[in-house]
Formats: sequence, C-alpha cells, structure tokens
Amino acid sequence: MALDFSFTEEQLAFRKSVRDFAEKVVWPGSGQRDVEGRFDPEIWRACGDFGLCGLPIPEEYGGQGADIVTSCLALEGLEEGGRDSGLLLSLGAHLCIGTVPIWLHGTEEQRRRYLPKLCSGEWIGAFAITEPEAGSDAAAIKTTARRDGEHWVLDGTKTFITNGPVADVVNVVAVTDPSAASGQRMSCFMVDKGTPGMTAGKHMDKMGNRSSPTSEMFFSDCAVHESQMLGPEGSALWKVGFECFDWERTVMIAASIGGMEAQLGACVEYAKQRVAFGKPIAQFEMIQDKLARMRVSINASRWLLYHAAWLKQQGLPHMQEASIAKYFIADAGMQNALEAVQIFGGYGYVKEFPVERSIRDAKLAAIGGGTSEIQKMIIARTMLGG
Ligand SMILES: Cc1cc2nc3c(=O)[nH]c(=O)nc-3n(C[C@H](O)[C@H](O)[C@H](O)COP(=O)(O)OP(=O)(O)OC[C@H]3O[C@@H](n4cnc5c(N)ncnc54)[C@H](O)[C@@H]3O)c2cc1C
Repeated sequence: MALDFSFTEEQLAFRKSVRDFAEKVVWPGSGQRDVEGRFDPEIWRACGDFGLCGLPIPEEYGGQGADIVTSCLALEGLEEGGRDSGLLLSLGAHLCIGTVPIWLHGTEEQRRRYLPKLCSGEWIGAFAITEPEAGSDAAAIKTTARRDGEHWVLDGTKTFITNGPVADVVNVVAVTDPSAASGQRMSCFMVDKGTPGMTAGKHMDKMGNRSSPTSEMFFSDCAVHESQMLGPEGSALWKVGFECFDWERTVMIAASIGGMEAQLGACVEYAKQRVAFGKPIAQFEMIQDKLARMRVSINASRWLLYHAAWLKQQGLPHMQEASIAKYFIADAGMQNALEAVQIFGGYGYVKEFPVERSIRDAKLAAIGGGTSEIQKMIIARTMLGG
C-alpha cells in the first residue's frame, strides 16, 4: 500500500498566495488591533475579495469550492503571514460554524439566500450554542423555541459568541421539544441581524484573539419564521452541532499551525542575531533544544491535522483523529508560545514583539471548539466504547 504525503502544486501555490496577501494586508496593524481589541471591517472585506470567506463552499453558491485540505492550508497561510489570531477566529467561525452548516443542511432556497453574501464577505456568520450554564455539556442548554403558528419564538441567553456583535446571521440552537430524547430535543434557526427580540451584548474583553468580537446574545420573544429552521426539527445537536465541532477540529485549528510556523521563523532569526556571552544565542545547546522541539511539535501537528483533514475529505470516519489533532495542536501551540517567549528573553515579555501575544492567543485552542479535556474524553471513548 502506497502512502502519498504530498500536497499538489496548486495547493502549495494557493497557500503561498494567501500567505503573501496576509503579509501585505493583515500583518500591518495586527499588534495595534490586539491592543485595542478591534475588529477591522476593511480587512474582513479584503479577505472576502480574496475569496477567503467562502473557501469550502461550492462555486455555484459563490464560494471557492476548495477541498478540506486546501481550506486548512489557506487558514495556515493566513495566520502565518498575518499574525492576527483574532481575525482567524472570526473567519474560522464564520466559515466552519456560520456558513458550512447552511451549505450542508440548508434547503436550496436557504442556500441561495444566504451563501452568496456570506461567501463574498458582505455578510458575517456566527453560531450560538454555548450558554452561561452549558458549554462542554451542550445537551444541557436552556434556550427554548416554542411554536406559534408559522413562527418559532426564541427565549434565552447565549454566551461567548464569536462575531456576535457584527454577525448578519446567527445559527442559534434551541430546545424545541423538552420532552424528547436528549439527541432530538434541539433545532437550529438562522436568525437575521435586526430580528426583533435578538440583541448582542457588549464586546467581551478577552485575554487573546482580541481582534475578534465576542459577545453574549439575548433572545426575548424573538419570533423567527418556520422557513428559518436549519435542518430537520430535532436534529440540531447531532447533525448541525456535532458537525460544526468536527469542522472546528479538522479545519479551523489549522490556523494554529500557521501561527506556530511564523513564530518559529521569528525565533530562528532572533536566536541567530541576539548575542550573549560573545556569541549568538543560537549556538547555545539549550536554545537549539528549544528550536528543535518546536520544529518537532509543528511537524507532528501538521501531520496529525492533515491526516484527519484527509480522512474527512474522503468521507472516512475520523472522530478520534480529529480529537487527537485538536488536542495535540492546542498543547503544542501553548508550549511553543512559552518557548518562544523564553528565547526572546525580556523582549518576549513586552508587546514590542508578537511572541508576547502568542501566549495569550494560543490558550484559546484548548478551550473553544471543545476543551482539551473533552477531546481526551472522546479519544478514550473511541477506544473504550460508550
Ligand atoms: C473566545 C471564545 C469564542 C467562542 N466562540 C463560540 C461560538 O462562536 N459559539 C459558541 O456556541 N460557543 C463559543 N465559545 C464557547 C466554547 O465553545 C466553550 O467555552 C467551551 O465549549 C467550554 O465550555 P465552558 O466555557 O462552559 O466550560 P465548562 O464546560 O464549564 O468547562 C469548565 C472546565 O471543566 C472541564 N470539563 C467539563 N466537562 C468535563 C468532563 N466531562 N470531563 C472533564 N472535564 C470537564 C472543561 O474541560 C473545563 O476545563 C467560545 C469560547 C471562547 C472563550
């Protein structure tokens, strides 16, 4: 049996073009946007013009029709060139949990209505399942949607919603049949910005990924027409929700690898020019040890991710592989960020260099899209059953 580890020339050329675009358009001011916690709509529009806002969506709906592996490479390139993890968080959420579910579960009418504008970047997408008292335990959400003629009326509170303050459409998961079995209690609704009864809370002041707007979302007597239900009634947790988590673990996480790659490049350059005790610190074995271990964890991250992404692309089972990739990359991202700061010494601790913010940015990967504890639980369950 042959194993082919190569990317195609087109895939690598596309990754490079995204990286170059990011270096030119996203990198300038990324440090300042972190300080200010500011989402920049102009950069978002530039990403849309470049074709990044609808990467995996078929061309007939305005997307790029990129396969899973190519989508991962693009997100890697965008983070490597732009060093704006907040932008990647917003774009990843827009793509993987805001737009993909409409493509995969929407009716033809829903796809035609939403996808072209989401793919062009004119509209921003979001997904809301987490609540103040239900995160990892998504089945415990309390937001309800009750039938009222041709409408469903939503009541409840969502929290930590990426793009909440700027989203044009939010895919909201709510309980539609409290008496049904756990996997059939919830449905998903596409709620348009401006729908009476839906309001976004204020931008949450986060530790990292600060250029991505995050907020609570409040629903109070929020009536949405039945035509806004996404997917079959009662299918939101197992179909829409779990599929969103899978996209987060096999595609969205790719950005972390691009960040680690850029960071290692900066460390190598710094180690070669920073002199201590009369020679570049790159000549000290303890610094070489750090660089070597960073390289190993990036390569391992990359192959774990692309294995899961490839399986997903082939339509093969990949639940365990996706969780292994997400867990490993989250850990590698944090460890590499700590080592990068150490290599930069005092300069790593101040905001002059992006390594300082990489620690703050890296932490999210172990929390969002299923915490590392949940990934380990899934990995163990796929071995133990149950
Ligand atoms: C910046 C940011 C953006 C986000 N974006 C979105 C979004 O767009 N949409 C959305 O719906 N949500 C979003 N989230 C929410 C995110 O998915 C949740 O924060 C995450 O699932 C964890 O839930 P929680 O915060 O309620 O923590 P909890 O579930 O309360 O967990 C607390 C701790 O307990 C551990 N724990 C929980 N259960 C178990 C268990 N069974 N075994 C072992 N340990 C366990 C967890 O791993 C964690 O360490 C976002 C969060 C952040 C921080």
